[in-house]
Amino acid sequence: MPRNVLNMKSSKDSNTRKIANEKEDKKLTKMPYENSCKIQYRIEQAKIKNIYIKIKDGEVVVRCSPKVQKKYIEEILNKKSEWINKKLKEYNKEKQSENLEKIQILGNEYNVKILYKDIKKVDVSVEDEVEISFPQYFENREISQKLKNNIKDAIYKKVTFEETKIAMEKYTKLTGFAPKQWRIRKINTAWGSCSSNKNITISSNLAKFDRQTIEYVVLHELTHLKYMNHSKQFWQMVENYMPNYKEIRKQLK
Ligand SMILES: [Zn+2]
Repeated sequence: MPRNVLNMKSSKDSNTRKIANEKEDKKLTKMPYENSCKIQYRIEQAKIKNIYIKIKDGEVVVRCSPKVQKKYIEEILNKKSEWINKKLKEYNKEKQSENLEKIQILGNEYNVKILYKDIKKVDVSVEDEVEISFPQYFENREISQKLKNNIKDAIYKKVTFEETKIAMEKYTKLTGFAPKQWRIRKINTAWGSCSSNKNITISSNLAKFDRQTIEYVVLHELTHLKYMNHSKQFWQMVENYMPNYKEIRKQLK
């Protein structure tokens, strides 16, 4: 934990707050103690004199010496509940906007429009903007993080599929090489792969990048149908069909 943060006097924009020194602050212990602490928290033990509260990934973390009594911690949490709830709300808002309000597609940021319709399943359409339609019963419900992630994955798969299809047609014509089959998968360890039985897999994570980048990955994998390595000849063939490939490739690192 950065020490300078701990001693900051103004904690307006900090998520860490020096709360109290048990010895210094005698007033706190005189407060009526509420038996139930409504705030869920986790204790991080450390050999320190003070007690610190921080909000980390949406979780309330109390950092203090193992000697500090639970009762005292909860008393402080109750006293600071307003500040804690405000920080938690801010965190949730941030998370939401990160996931469904805007989405990065083909190198641009797209606005996401959320609709509620008389449908049974969540439906997504990607055109000038991204439209996510939820069944009506979602209207007053909180959308779980898991569902948000699934929707984002579905959008990425759809976009990557459409773009890959166009790029495949273009470069199979140009190079004369075609895979037996190709598919889109959510792979986090590679942008694409080509198997020895001539199947190509393209990562749906490519949806974030512009068209040229997706084209490059498609061309790269198609070139592996001729050269199953990254030899000089391999890169020569890539360059033949995409002279600026080095520039494009930089984005993927
Ligand atoms: Zn390769």
